[in-house]
Amino acid sequence: MGRLRVYELAKQLDMDTKELMHELEELGIEVKSHMSFIDEETVNILLDIYKQTLDEEEELVEATKKESTKEKAEAKKPPVHITEEDLRLDKFAEKIKVPQNRIIQDFFMRGEVLKPGQPLSISLAKKIAKLYDVRLTFEEAEPKEQVVIENPLEELKRKFEELYKDKDKLVPRPPVVTVMGHVDHGKTTLLDYIRKTRIAEKEEGGITQSIGAYQVEVDGKKITFIDTPGHEVFTEMRARGAQATDIVVLVVAADDGVMPQTIEAYNHAKSANVPIIVAINKIDKPNANVELTKQDLVTKLNLIPEEWGGDTIVVPISARNGTNVDTLLEMILLVAEMQDIRCIPDEPVRAVTIETKLDKGYGPVANAIVKDGVLKVGDYVVAGKSYGKVKALIDDKGRRIKEATPSTPVMIVGFEELPDPHSIIYVVESKEKAVEIVEKVKELEARELRKKRQIKLEEILKKMQ
Ligand code: GDP
Ligand code: MG
Repeated sequence: MGRLRVYELAKQLDMDTKELMHELEELGIEVKSHMSFIDEETVNILLDIYKQTLDEEEELVEATKKESTKEKAEAKKPPVHITEEDLRLDKFAEKIKVPQNRIIQDFFMRGEVLKPGQPLSISLAKKIAKLYDVRLTFEEAEPKEQVVIENPLEELKRKFEELYKDKDKLVPRPPVVTVMGHVDHGKTTLLDYIRKTRIAEKEEGGITQSIGAYQVEVDGKKITFIDTPGHEVFTEMRARGAQATDIVVLVVAADDGVMPQTIEAYNHAKSANVPIIVAINKIDKPNANVELTKQDLVTKLNLIPEEWGGDTIVVPISARNGTNVDTLLEMILLVAEMQDIRCIPDEPVRAVTIETKLDKGYGPVANAIVKDGVLKVGDYVVAGKSYGKVKALIDDKGRRIKEATPSTPVMIVGFEELPDPHSIIYVVESKEKAVEIVEKVKELEARELRKKRQIKLEEILKKMQ
């Protein structure tokens, strides 16, 4: 015998307890508090609800799809056109020209209780129509119909994939580099050193802005470094069709060797097919052992240094003193050149989000790196469930810029709400388009949630039986 308390069920369903209690209340199921028990019957009712909503959406689309082709083919008896507003028993009865009371009676005889004016699901409306031999068509512009059509973000993503097929139209862009490695092996020190020596002394005032990434120039060529890497730069982004990074610098301390997070970082880079340059760090330390660290690379990661006949570039450095950091930068440029990193030059435009935050002065902002095209102030953008009009672009030196070219890190100001930190940002042609996309994405997400809940309820029910 399985019983669940309200809060337990809410947790299982990824739902707010209050939200669930509200839903139960709407269904006329009485629960006194979040500690009240939920029985099998209630779980069943909830299950039915979620199933029905999903079925309705499904049917609605099927119906609209079919009708358009079927309609002309079999125009014997003209079908009755139904809009969402007709999905109430009284209105529906009027539409199909059958008295409401008769429907109620007929259904009562068949063991189903209908109430006057009650809302109808599409499936129920169809059932009624069938009983009286009425053919239905559904309003074309039904808002729900759009829901089940393809995720608009997939459509945007595909546009880029197609353009990438035409290699001749692509142009080179600077590499985006992520520094990874075990904790305390010197990632921050290295990033700070590069930033300080390559930016601060050159810029007027020398104030750098933290926007999650920065760009430096080496021998007249640009390199973008991501400041605060997470594994999402591989996994989450790849799922959305764009990689945030082109090259990984794997930092391994010469006094510590390959450690668990070194392996983890390596695995992420490897599975994302991103080339790795190893920086053996802290060579200034008396107990540093470069040779032993190289052996570690071979045995634990199967990375064979070039000087040992392999193809892994290994640079021994001291991030603290700056020893060999220039060599490391040159190696990055070399690898970048071999990778032939390219992008779409002007448009369409997309950027990968590095982080998002609510800024005191600017409101919701996204720190991002432009991936393709030129992002401009005034552009309309979508980022998952969020959209906006670019009010300002701030670069890594804290300056307002009018536009950002590929591989440029920028803070994007102008989102209506905080974007998902793993989203791809796309420029769209208008505010209307942006709103349309965002609404679809939200609907799809809600639908996914309902599906998940339905599956979970099914599991719960199985356990109860
Ligand atoms: P992270 O966790 O990988 O970002 O590592 P940090 O950059 O914070 O460095 C951890 C510690 O190692 C700090 O105390 C650094 O000063 C020190 N460190 C980093 N690089 C070097 C180096 O090249 N030589 C020496 N001696 N210490 C270093
Ligand atoms: Mg750090």
